Amino acid sequence: MKKRYQLVGIICIIAVVAVMIAIWYFTQVHGMGSITFVEEGSVVIEYGDSYDPNECIKEIDGALKQPVEIDTKKLGEQTLHFLVIKDGREKEFTYVVMVEDTKAPIIEVSEKEVTLAVNDDYDPNHYLVSVKDPVDGDLPQSDEKKRGAYWLSDDVDMSTEGDYTLTVLAMDQAENEAQETIKIHVTSHRNSLPASHSYTGGYDSGADPYDCEPYYVNGILLVNKKHPLPPSFGGLDATAATALGELQAAALLDGFSLPTLSGYRSYEYQGTLYNNYVAIDGQEIADTYSARPGFSEHQSGMAFDVGAIDNNFGNTEAGIWLREHCHEYGFILRYPQGKEHITGYMYEPWHIRYVGVGSAREIHQRGITLEEYLGER
Ligand SMILES: [Zn+2]
Repeated sequence: MKKRYQLVGIICIIAVVAVMIAIWYFTQVHGMGSITFVEEGSVVIEYGDSYDPNECIKEIDGALKQPVEIDTKKLGEQTLHFLVIKDGREKEFTYVVMVEDTKAPIIEVSEKEVTLAVNDDYDPNHYLVSVKDPVDGDLPQSDEKKRGAYWLSDDVDMSTEGDYTLTVLAMDQAENEAQETIKIHVTSHRNSLPASHSYTGGYDSGADPYDCEPYYVNGILLVNKKHPLPPSFGGLDATAATALGELQAAALLDGFSLPTLSGYRSYEYQGTLYNNYVAIDGQEIADTYSARPGFSEHQSGMAFDVGAIDNNFGNTEAGIWLREHCHEYGFILRYPQGKEHITGYMYEPWHIRYVGVGSAREIHQRGITLEEYLGER
């Protein structure tokens, strides 16, 4: 008899506990909203990116009471608070995400290749436009490798002829690194410099960069010895830069590498180059191989030197490809052979200018220069 009472008692206790659990379940858990998140620790967000915190949610039972805030401009772990509301009751869930900086600094140089004469002044900072990091901003120069800075390394010996390399290295606070190199050719004789942007005709005596407007004909900018650009005009042209990328990609598919050797040059930079040459050789000789500030088409942001700065480049397969195909991407060979008297510049098989596909095709097919196309000759 005693055993049976014991059994009934145990069953009663189990029954009461079961009912209590059921009541608790239906009031607390079942009635509450819930969230299932994506795998813990798998959400890493790039610094500064726009990010929708709802992407952390795999499943939600209920609704978010308010939008969840995330500050992607704060590095490190961040706890997100999700307030879920269901049947009028709220419950908070937290989830930890990580904001990281994985973007390398961006090094911008004005030239990829520089030719100097033995014992010329050489200042590596001349060729550096900027070193910026998407997170840390402008990076300062340092003598040695360190976080949040850039430093220079080279093997240049200005007293000896040769080909040298200047390397610009940068590292941001998160230890992302970037590198850019510039080839420095030191030659023994000034007259062995490539005839870059050579002078054959005279500058127009009335052409003054300080007293001119950018000269457009039918919407196309013309820069030559008659029509300079004012000092304030400048910047890389985004359309031209994109077209250049397409041209280089197409060349690569055909087996030719056409590296950018020189792109946008500011008025100030062209002035520094030109004045250096004038100081060494005098204006008359400097005018034979360097454009005066304001007169370089590179200031337009639509002119590029690609391939190789070498008069023989036009006879190479890559040079021929460039001449035959650049119009398909909106470019023309700006200083063609036999047109020196019209363009005012020696033949430059490496210098291309963006004018748009329609104009480039016509200029190519008719075998004319930009001056002739625009009726300026
Ligand atoms: Zn050029």
